[in-house]
Amino acid sequence: MPDLQQLTTTLKEYFGYDSFRPLQSEIIASIFDGNDNLVIMPTGGGKSICYQLPALLLPGITLVISPLIALMKDQVDGLLANGISAAFVNSSQTTEEQQSIYQKLLDKEIKLLYIAPESLSFLDAIFAQIELSLIAIDEAHCISAWGHDFRPAYTQLGYLKNRFPKIPLIALTATADKATRQDICDQLNIPNATHHIASFDRKNLSLEVRPGNKRIEQIFSFLSDKTNDSGIIYCLSRKTTETLAEKLREQGFTAEAYHAGINHDQRAKVQEDFINDTIQIVCATIAFGMGIDKSNVRWVIHYNLPKNIEGYYQEIGRAGRDGLPSSTLLFHSYADIVQLQKFADMSGNKEVQLAKLDRMKQYADSLSCRRKILLSYFGELIEQDCGNCDVCKNPPEFIDGTIIAQKALSCVTRIKEEEPIGTVIDVLRGAQNTTVYDKGYQNLKTYGIANDIAWRDWQQYIIQLTNQGYLEIAFHQNNKLKLTPIAKKVLFEGEKVSLAHLKAFEKTKESIIKP
Ligand code: ADP
Ligand code: ZN
Repeated sequence: MPDLQQLTTTLKEYFGYDSFRPLQSEIIASIFDGNDNLVIMPTGGGKSICYQLPALLLPGITLVISPLIALMKDQVDGLLANGISAAFVNSSQTTEEQQSIYQKLLDKEIKLLYIAPESLSFLDAIFAQIELSLIAIDEAHCISAWGHDFRPAYTQLGYLKNRFPKIPLIALTATADKATRQDICDQLNIPNATHHIASFDRKNLSLEVRPGNKRIEQIFSFLSDKTNDSGIIYCLSRKTTETLAEKLREQGFTAEAYHAGINHDQRAKVQEDFINDTIQIVCATIAFGMGIDKSNVRWVIHYNLPKNIEGYYQEIGRAGRDGLPSSTLLFHSYADIVQLQKFADMSGNKEVQLAKLDRMKQYADSLSCRRKILLSYFGELIEQDCGNCDVCKNPPEFIDGTIIAQKALSCVTRIKEEEPIGTVIDVLRGAQNTTVYDKGYQNLKTYGIANDIAWRDWQQYIIQLTNQGYLEIAFHQNNKLKLTPIAKKVLFEGEKVSLAHLKAFEKTKESIIKP
């Protein structure tokens, strides 16, 4: 196994970098140890090196499964330019082109082979004859219907581990909450994978949520000091991207729409013009941005509420990759929620989608530091409020919520983290219903300890406790409330908790348009 010195030399020689970014060398060492690995690292964090560098030093071929044909070509071109023998296989190639790659693989002339999951069968005939050293699965969240970008072709990838049990597998993604991580490992058959989870904190992104009324006017005023700054506006519908781009052009901005209904050449052109700063603004549906490497996107607006926090965080993450201050703005409207609920209803796993949408809504409604919510959603608990979100900059009135928090958290403890929010509140308030009696909750010490607080108010408080990271919602276990590691500070170490006064909450509610 190569030591750090050798790895660093190879990094410099082939990629021109002097040192590893956080986690890269640990991940590479873990591959050489023969482990399977799950890597969760934000976009731009440097995931590619984690398998490209081992590929150079391992004896055989590294197979890279990647969902996007356009990306594949860029990656391969980049590697070839660095003197690394790489190739890709996908459905856009002729049989001759594929045959030639086939031959090169057999002749051991290729170190890295990029392939779309749909094209894997291409390798069936030669799998037995080639030496495989590593399997990398990029954008691994695509395997999970719980994630935000499910691709049916990914679900067949589970057989790779069965077929090549001794070849280390590395799954990489920029977005996966806890449950999705578990699902990725289950589906890929890598139960013992080492997990490498990079910090998701992007301090340079300011976070702001506003009610979605008069959005166009708000956008113009938002843009008034951003005359030359590149930005993306995400919209829910194709039509909105087009009307919005049109309105922006009328105001003198260079803006284009981008969505799956636009033809391939035009899309490629928009993407290229945006990267080259010929277009300032792209109004896009979610189809835009996956894998585009543009470091100076200065702002991202969500014209509509996204359907979950994973997607939202990934999309705002496209701003400020160069580390410079960048702004994000989310519009929040009742109409969006209704629309998204309809989509969720039509999806295969309605309950999970609805629960995730609920969390998104709670984020938008929140009176706690928004960054805390985002990071705790991904399992990262920060102590301090961020100072760079609209709630931190304009805090609501707080009350000492320590006793309330202690009651709620100890109730969750006593019901063994087995119930969703509604039942927790029923127990706290001493409700006399069958759920409570069936499970004998009326005998718990916490039964009825807080019936002085109204049901709705409890709901708000518990959401706030979740937003602050003391509780989390297990989406895939019927939304049971679970304690997080910092809950014990409140229960046993006397940590004080501040909760927003409920009247502040009423105010945000009113500002959101009701039907
Ligand atoms: P990801 O796949 O996580 O989005 P990439 O692998 O594309 O990220 O890397 C993002 C950028 O960071 C690329 O331009 C890459 O060349 C650069 N990069 C990666 N590792 C390093 C490193 N150790 N030192 C400097 N730059 C790096
Ligand atoms: Zn904050």
